Amino acid sequence: MNIDVNMVEALVKKVINSVNENASSLNEDYSYGIFENMDDAAEAAAVAQRKYLGCSMSERAKYVQVIRDVVLKKENLELISQMAVEETGMGKYEHKLVKNSLAATKSPGIEDLTTEAMTGDDGLTIVEYSPFGVIGAIAPTTNPTETIICNSIGMLAAGNSVIFSPHPRAKNVSLTLIKMINKGLEEAGAPRNLIVTVKEPSIENTNKMMENPKVRMLVATGGPAIVKTVLSSGKKAIGAGAGNPPVVVDETADIEKAASDIIAGCSFDNNLPCIAEKEVIAVDSIADYLIFNMKKSGAYEVKDSALIRQLEGLVINENGGPKTSFVGKSAQYILSYVGIQVGPEIKVIIMETPREHPFVQTELMMPILPVVRVNDVDEAIELAIQAEHGNRHTAMMHSRNVDKLTKMAKLIQTTIFVKNGPSYAGIGVGGEGYTTFTIAGPTGEGLTSAKSFARKRRCVLVGGLDVR
Ligand code: NAD
Repeated sequence: MNIDVNMVEALVKKVINSVNENASSLNEDYSYGIFENMDDAAEAAAVAQRKYLGCSMSERAKYVQVIRDVVLKKENLELISQMAVEETGMGKYEHKLVKNSLAATKSPGIEDLTTEAMTGDDGLTIVEYSPFGVIGAIAPTTNPTETIICNSIGMLAAGNSVIFSPHPRAKNVSLTLIKMINKGLEEAGAPRNLIVTVKEPSIENTNKMMENPKVRMLVATGGPAIVKTVLSSGKKAIGAGAGNPPVVVDETADIEKAASDIIAGCSFDNNLPCIAEKEVIAVDSIADYLIFNMKKSGAYEVKDSALIRQLEGLVINENGGPKTSFVGKSAQYILSYVGIQVGPEIKVIIMETPREHPFVQTELMMPILPVVRVNDVDEAIELAIQAEHGNRHTAMMHSRNVDKLTKMAKLIQTTIFVKNGPSYAGIGVGGEGYTTFTIAGPTGEGLTSAKSFARKRRCVLVGGLDVR
């Protein structure tokens, strides 16, 4: 038997190299996606995405399931929910549990990426959802972990890697969650660094991320400033911006149910969700009964105009925006600052105000809910459109009049319009449909999902596979 010495030598070298490679990767101190600087993070995410292109769809499905499982593991879910409340000082632990598990269970995965096919005499053409590459995703303080969970699921399902830019005030919980997910992904055999961030998130680092040429798409979930910034970046961008959701109640509504739905939606996570009820516009003939029932459902009514002014001074800052120190705080906490002690059964502070009051016109993100009285439903719809400020975000209406429900839905043009339910029905809690915490009104993707983070590409096979 002839032995090719060169071939044996090459084979031995290959085996030694691969052993060395494995050994070095085992010894290497893997940072689980956390990098010192943005350039290194972007480079690692780009390398990861290239490797990820070689993974099968069933592997992608497996990795998406890993994200769900990691988040839903009891100790992880409790830890990130607890940390989010403690670090940001906003929201409610029990509701963070609900929101985080909602994001983990109801954010669509690879099944969202449906293929279109066209066949005919000239053959077969398919249009498929293909990854953008590396996505830069900016997350808010109000839903720090929920946004990371639902964006990770959607963006990885679509074949991308992602660089997160968390809010600096949610740094620790965001980094903990990213590490947790990367650990799970590594154990499942996924390429390393599919989800990355930097040790010190900051506006400066967010800007570096936006400028990095390796980042092919930007997704901003936050207020008007960051949405405007990503839209001016020259890159493909999704902007999920602010809302100021009005809720209209007319004389045909089931008033008891409307009152309890409004209090439940408004108080959810202390009013942090961008979809939560921010002002009530009620037809005069039912306004008293609505207020009476809201109080039965856990509202505290402030009637004294001096006290309303005191509250205004307390929670509105010099620029007319909400004071951060009161955003996402409980009604009990806010009332204690104006000398009113109540128990935790009080979930929302209500008061009647004129339509131009800052509580109506400003997105407060705290459980202060003004009620504006109007003569009829048409006036209510008109005011709701004005108070929504063209954000095209979310609105609610309680009515049994189909014509008026249709009128408001058509005219207000919001991404989410909930009829006869609490606002969270619009993101799949007690309402049909999937969930997301990135609701893109300004750029039109609506409730984002895997396909929002993908490019449509056409593949053409000429002259074949038409079997009709
Ligand atoms: P924010 O705009 O203050 O911050 C959002 C993110 O953008 C943070 O990571 C922040 O660090 C970054 N950022 C802000 N300005 C920036 C700038 N000039 N340059 C670089 N980075 C910048 O918002 P927030 O207070 O954390 O969140 C609340 C806001 O987000 C509300 O307006 C709410 O309606 C909105 N929101 C919208 C959605 C949606 O799906 N549409 C979801 C959640 C929150």
